[in-house]
Amino acid sequence: MNYKNITVAGSGVLGSQIAFQTAYKGKFNVVIYDINDEALERAKDRILNLKPYYKEDLGASDEDLNDAYNRLSFHSDLAKAVANADLVIEAIPEVVNIKTNFYNQLGKVAPEKTIFATNSSTLLPSQFAEATGRPEKFLALHFANEIWKNNTAEVMKHPGTAEEVFNEVIEFAKAIGMVALPLHKEQPGYILNSLLVPLLEAGQGLLLNDVADPETIDKTWMIATGAPLGPFAILDVVGITTAYNIANAKAQTGDPHFKKLASLLKTEYIDKGKTGRAAGEGFYKY
Ligand code: NAD
Repeated sequence: MNYKNITVAGSGVLGSQIAFQTAYKGKFNVVIYDINDEALERAKDRILNLKPYYKEDLGASDEDLNDAYNRLSFHSDLAKAVANADLVIEAIPEVVNIKTNFYNQLGKVAPEKTIFATNSSTLLPSQFAEATGRPEKFLALHFANEIWKNNTAEVMKHPGTAEEVFNEVIEFAKAIGMVALPLHKEQPGYILNSLLVPLLEAGQGLLLNDVADPETIDKTWMIATGAPLGPFAILDVVGITTAYNIANAKAQTGDPHFKKLASLLKTEYIDKGKTGRAAGEGFYKY
């Protein structure tokens, strides 16, 4: 693996963390790409807000954090953002059309050498392999939220991924301080979300059906299993927009439960600015 330049596309909750971790731990040059200057300004704030966590959780020094920040650059022009990229890590919204359009464009402007990796949580890389125009150089690289301490990297092939690319991306994940977890076969939700999504949906189902409030549901799970967080505290960390996108996608199949859930998340939380911990309020106040 002789990657030097990494581009992270999408600078929201996960993209900003991936970009900063890549610059901090792997000392790579990182270009952050997002749709416009406004989004890039928000990215700068998000990244500056990560610094206290790196200090508290990793004992990072101001000097190392400033050096990492200085290895970042910001672009809203895709062709410029990927002009030197060895690897593009995509962390844009979990919406099929947005990702398909993105890969169609990216495949046209990226140099031939560039490897593409999706951080998608619920969509399979084979859904986008054709749109990339380079299926053998495409795979999934899935991080967990709070990447600097929850340092799992699930590296997953689709049937067309070249073995060499798979191995390189595993090495890259290790170089940025991750525990690399190879998945040799496509699995919806990888390992983590095969376990986590059913838990979160079950919790939301209890709320939607007026069985119990979020605090009671979380308390039950935490005390009975010894887990440090319950489903609603986890949802606040993930971000309620991502939970909404997942519910909304399932609602499109006509399932009335997910239709009701998507509507609850939108009207009671997202429309009120309660999008989770990063916003200061979600199911809980922070
Ligand atoms: P987010 O909504 O916080 O951020 C998405 C970012 O993408 C925003 O900055 C937005 O401006 C940008 N964007 C929108 N359209 C774009 C486009 N066409 N090109 C480039 N950028 C665009 O989302 P997130 O929670 O960071 O999730 C991003 C991806 O990461 C999703 O695929 C999600 O499944 C995955 N993921 C999320 C988590 C999590 O805990 N939030 C964990 C693992 C993986």
